[in-house]
Amino acid sequence: MTKETTNNQSSQIDIIQQPRVYLVGRQTIEHRDMDKFLADYGMEWNPDSTVAGEILAEAGGRLCYMSFGKGRSTSAEYMENILSSGHGSVTEHAIWNFIITGVSRSFTHELIRHRAGFGYSQLSQRYVNESNTQFVEPDVIANNPKAHDIWTSSIKHSLDAYKELAQVLREEYSEVESRTLRRKLARQAARSVLPNATETKIFVTANARALRHFIELRGNEHAEIEIRKVATEILTIMKSESPNLFADYEVTPIDDGTEIVTTEYPKV
Ligand SMILES: Cc1cc2nc3c(=O)[nH]c(=O)nc-3n(C[C@H](O)[C@H](O)[C@H](O)COP(=O)(O)OP(=O)(O)OC[C@H]3O[C@@H](n4cnc5c(N)ncnc54)[C@H](O)[C@@H]3O)c2cc1C
Repeated sequence: MTKETTNNQSSQIDIIQQPRVYLVGRQTIEHRDMDKFLADYGMEWNPDSTVAGEILAEAGGRLCYMSFGKGRSTSAEYMENILSSGHGSVTEHAIWNFIITGVSRSFTHELIRHRAGFGYSQLSQRYVNESNTQFVEPDVIANNPKAHDIWTSSIKHSLDAYKELAQVLREEYSEVESRTLRRKLARQAARSVLPNATETKIFVTANARALRHFIELRGNEHAEIEIRKVATEILTIMKSESPNLFADYEVTPIDDGTEIVTTEYPKV
């Protein structure tokens, strides 16, 4: 993170360029009931995966044919067959939770276009004071001194305007008794001058099928670079977290120094 003060102006802006992705939640298996179910129906099943999401997805798939303990013996083989045959609904049973920070409002605008299989909770600009927010600078601007100057100057003006508007509007709403409501009313209008670059934080819950689709579309070379960074980071986490559901993806560097994601099993 860097701090910048532009000419003739006093306040600083905090600039960031790298997103942060935290894997904060995963599923657990209720072994007592799983074992009871298997025993009730006279089956034995000992999956070799230790990843709850993978085991639950496999259980969903095996339930379709009551094939617990039969057929493909390893979880890797089972999941490879699911992916290669396009039986994607099974992968919806595997769910993870992430917190993503250090990203711009442009990023989250693109992210939340992914609807199926995703849940979101995002930092509220109505409730939270953005006077000390950070700003996400695209690499291409950061690497060009002239572009960087134009960008920092513009961001600075926006931030100053936000702070001034918030103050003026708090006075405008001085009759409103509740301090919290007064601030909310002021901030919800003042935020209209904040740029797309404003940093935000978002809590994301997604199933494996939705994550795979997101990674494919947003790890693609046609995707915008910030969202591609996040897609690649999520893939790196998921390849370690759940190798059997994400093993087919490859990350390849391209000429411009960025990376893209490819798979032989798209849109499962
Ligand atoms: C490189 C790139 C450029 C883009 N440019 C633009 C742009 O200029 N303007 C713009 O508006 N958007 C743009 N988008 C966003 C894009 O149009 C999608 O909205 C976004 O990628 C979400 O993908 P999805 O529609 O597959 O939705 P997801 O929610 O990820 O859905 C996954 C899949 O579920 C199915 N599905 C989901 N919802 C429905 C539904 N309601 N009915 C039927 N099937 C459904 C579809 O098969 C869909 O592919 C761009 C995306 C990319 C990757």
